[in-house]
Amino acid sequence: MRSTKTETMTLWVCFNCANLLANAEYPDDFTMGVDSVPLSAIDFAAGDEITLGMMWEDHTSNCVALTSDGEEQCNCETIDFSTHPCDACNDPYAGDRLAATLWYTPEP
Ligand SMILES: [Zn+2]
Ligand SMILES: [Zn+2]
Repeated sequence: MRSTKTETMTLWVCFNCANLLANAEYPDDFTMGVDSVPLSAIDFAAGDEITLGMMWEDHTSNCVALTSDGEEQCNCETIDFSTHPCDACNDPYAGDRLAATLWYTPEP
């Protein structure tokens, strides 16, 4: 039986991980062996996908983009300064985090 991606999970990722997702390349200042390898903390199963941004239902209820029908930019998808490790590579450095969505197939 073919499975389909039905579940999503919001991840908060660091700049390195976001860059790899957006451009499919490491940022210029990325140092292999020093920085955490982007997306290395995610246990991908076959067919899983990760995309930048989050689902509309995960935006806050008073989100300006939602209430203005997309006319205005909201900042639901960024956290200016987080001390929580990156969800995608476990990078412990505090800094900006961007929302990403993991699309996965739940275990039967
Ligand atoms: Zn929003
Ligand atoms: Zn990261």
